[in-house]
Amino acid sequence: MRTGILLLVSGPSGSGKSTLCRRLEDEREASFSVSCTTRAPREGELHERDYYFLSKEDFLERVAAGDFIEHAEVHGNYYGTLRSEVVERLAKGIDVVMDIDVQGAAQVRACEDGVIQKSLVDLFVMPPSEMELAARLTGRGTDSEEVIALRLKNAIEEMSHWPKYRYRLVSATREEDYTRFKSLLIGERMRVSRLGES
Ligand code: 5GP
Repeated sequence: MRTGILLLVSGPSGSGKSTLCRRLEDEREASFSVSCTTRAPREGELHERDYYFLSKEDFLERVAAGDFIEHAEVHGNYYGTLRSEVVERLAKGIDVVMDIDVQGAAQVRACEDGVIQKSLVDLFVMPPSEMELAARLTGRGTDSEEVIALRLKNAIEEMSHWPKYRYRLVSATREEDYTRFKSLLIGERMRVSRLGES
């Protein structure tokens, strides 16, 4: 018996972090923490699978009710992690993976909840270069030019935060990235501090 790992993943959009997190869930290695957001769903995105899509009013009500472990404004929209997506699973020994921005990560690190502190492993995923990042953001084809320009500007700023994380992954190929990503989780499962007496 061991407690769960809270694998917190940040990185600019276009770093490939969402794909890594989703694959971990698809392979049943960890449970994905579905966030709340006030942004509109993109094509193909589903309520409750990709995000809980909330109105601004509903989001702010949940903030006031203390439902979030962390929340932040990213690219002009609100995003937040529900306590209910994380804490019970960790206590049951289920590993949880979360994809959140650098502001949210700072709040989770500062969080006084002992279960979260004990479980936390934070990783920053980044592209090999700014040029590669720009190419990936443009190639995605889901956002307007204006949105891409804003994301690129934010991404460059966001990348400066990597030294605050315990781990960093500079992306190479999808398979290589996933192998390294999963290895981190496998390694963390062996930490003595997570293990019970029997
Ligand atoms: P997107 O709109 O592209 O899905 O996500 C935009 C950014 O919001 C990404 O950097 C993602 O990591 C971040 N994000 C997603 N969910 C959360 C959350 O619950 N909290 C915070 N702080 N950031 C989030």
